[in-house]
Amino acid sequence: MADTRYDAIVVGARCAGAPTAMLLARRGHKVLVVDRATFPSDTVSTHLLHPPGVASLRRWGLLERLEATGCPPIDTYAFDFGPFTISGAPGTEEAPVAYGPRRTVLDKLLVDAAAEAGAEVREGFTVQDVVLTDGRVTGIRGQDRHGRAVTERARVVVGADGRHSHVARAVGPEHYHERPPLLCGY
Ligand SMILES: Cc1cc2nc3c(=O)[nH]c(=O)nc-3n(C[C@H](O)[C@H](O)[C@H](O)COP(=O)(O)OP(=O)(O)OC[C@H]3O[C@@H](n4cnc5c(N)ncnc54)[C@H](O)[C@@H]3O)c2cc1C
Repeated sequence: MADTRYDAIVVGARCAGAPTAMLLARRGHKVLVVDRATFPSDTVSTHLLHPPGVASLRRWGLLERLEATGCPPIDTYAFDFGPFTISGAPGTEEAPVAYGPRRTVLDKLLVDAAAEAGAEVREGFTVQDVVLTDGRVTGIRGQDRHGRAVTERARVVVGADGRHSHVARAVGPEHYHERPPLLCGY
């Protein structure tokens, strides 16, 4: 498309968005990643980076950066239900431990890695709508950190904007594998 500036725009730059932008940029794609937050900043979380997440960081060459922050490895989980406790090692041979980094640390590390890979990172950018052309998403509309209205176009727009995703709401996808909530954590 003649007016497409980016191969991909990623909305949301935390655990989901920043690595997506990083991996696309590492493959040579022209990527814009936006977030209404600025980094480092906190978000609601119990901070547990489970072993598969640790394995991803290692694969991406980022685990050493997390370890260098002084964040200690966790080699035992214990779930205390009151009458009994289930405990054991969380991981596998390949990824034996978990970590509990603050999101101020983890998310900043991931955003920096996306920028290093060549993705353009715009913090303080709020997406207000997706741009539709012939029923297809072709960009985003929003406000930059100075309050200016901005429209950007891309071949692909990725919604990594978390719970209550604006992008998901805008495109109204089919729902599948839905289960009613049983508890706050399930
Ligand atoms: C209380 C609680 C505890 C949790 N604890 C854990 C845990 O210990 N371990 C774990 O793995 N998971 C945990 N989770 C799940 C956790 O939310 C996800 O693992 C993780 O935060 C999801 O990352 P994400 O990048 O998809 O979304 P988020 O971390 O929610 O990031 C979404 C980003 O999108 C941005 N954004 C949203 N809307 C817009 C917009 N319109 N324009 C621009 N930017 C926008 C936001 O500013 C945000 O930075 C917990 C969740 C809750 C609620």
